[in-house]
Amino acid sequence: MPWVKQQPEVNIGVVGHVDHGKTTLVQALTGIWTARHSEELKRGMTIKLGYADGNIAFCEDMKPPEAYTTDEVCPTGSESRLLRRVSYVDAPGHEALMATMLSGAMLMDGAILVVAANEPCPQPQTVEHLAALNAIGIRNIVIVQNKIDVVTRERAFENYREIKNLVRGTVAEDAPIIPVSALHKTNIDVLLQSFQERIPTPHRDLSKPPLMFIVRSFDVNRPGTSFQDLVGGVIGGSLIQGVLKVGDEVAILPGVKTPVGGSKTAYKYEPITTRIEEIRFGELQVEEARPGGLAAIRTPLDPSLTKADSMVGNIVSHPDHQPPVARVLEIEYSVLERVVGGKEMTKLPPIQVKENIVLTIGTATRIGVVTGLGKSTMTVELKDPVAVWEGGRVALSRRVLGRWRLAGWGVVKS
Ligand code: GDP
Ligand code: MG
Repeated sequence: MPWVKQQPEVNIGVVGHVDHGKTTLVQALTGIWTARHSEELKRGMTIKLGYADGNIAFCEDMKPPEAYTTDEVCPTGSESRLLRRVSYVDAPGHEALMATMLSGAMLMDGAILVVAANEPCPQPQTVEHLAALNAIGIRNIVIVQNKIDVVTRERAFENYREIKNLVRGTVAEDAPIIPVSALHKTNIDVLLQSFQERIPTPHRDLSKPPLMFIVRSFDVNRPGTSFQDLVGGVIGGSLIQGVLKVGDEVAILPGVKTPVGGSKTAYKYEPITTRIEEIRFGELQVEEARPGGLAAIRTPLDPSLTKADSMVGNIVSHPDHQPPVARVLEIEYSVLERVVGGKEMTKLPPIQVKENIVLTIGTATRIGVVTGLGKSTMTVELKDPVAVWEGGRVALSRRVLGRWRLAGWGVVKS
């Protein structure tokens, strides 16, 4: 029986320092090169979050690990059994793109930490991304020791010890370390087996009201399309709970920034209500979307509202079950003892009242000012509102040597 076409059921993040081979690994796992935007191709680096769907399948007439494959046909010629469809979230590794990495991390059910064996470990964003997994509470981790094809056996063992030292005392302490060559597709079967063992699909409560983080938004019309051929705005996102169906009415929060009166500076956010006209996962058109993967949802909205990622950071919800929208948050927080500052680790002074900080709340990145500070709780007044709920995880960044760096995390109290 050929595989039934279905949406991915789990999001596995791919994180680690720039050039360590994250995008190459996603290609080895899915056949897809995620860096598609012209700017990314020109500069040879991942800038936006990349999404690529892949398969984990099993050949019944073979033994593990060789039995694990991404293909429908086994080396023996028989047909493999599809175990899971997986969506890989390719995070940018460049230090300037930490905010993008953090919003991607909010969608990850598990993660692959990629470490290139041919560089001393750790590199700065190896540390910073691992700290992000820790902060956001992503416990299901597999470590890939990549570029094994260009190092000696001795260097491979030395690098293994470096990785072990790095992860001691972190969420990745017991994560398996799998030597791989993403470029030559070596050991991919062992890696697939480790995903099955270490990154289970979380239990999804489909009866909960739907909540989706918007990760992308587009105007899919080509320039010059005539008015009657225009299609409505498309939003791309990942459901964190519940189900969205074609025909559903939805509320998008906090919505669009609208000037107040004729003012040039004063504005407010207006929620949008719209309807789902079509749902796709890549090429696959579906009647309903569940958690896992990136759903592209077509709406009747004016595409100028959704063009160029303008809706990123919004939440899609059911009109009768809208999460609160807030501009002042009470947060229970923890800080990192030392943060990455350039090449070195830096110790930071304690957070101050009136300090500007950046919060990552779902896929939203918000600048704010600390207006109240206790030992374990703080009040932050955001410049712009955000849809948020009690118990939601946030990542907290502070300005260090001219860049926003991950410096702590928290949970929204109210
Ligand atoms: P990213 O920044 O982590 O996404 O890294 P890329 O996937 O863009 O890879 C950076 C460079 O490393 C590219 O030139 C890749 O061809 C190369 N590369 C990736 N994986 C391997 C590998 O397993 N072996 C070797 N020799 N090169 C690799
Ligand atoms: Mg990349």
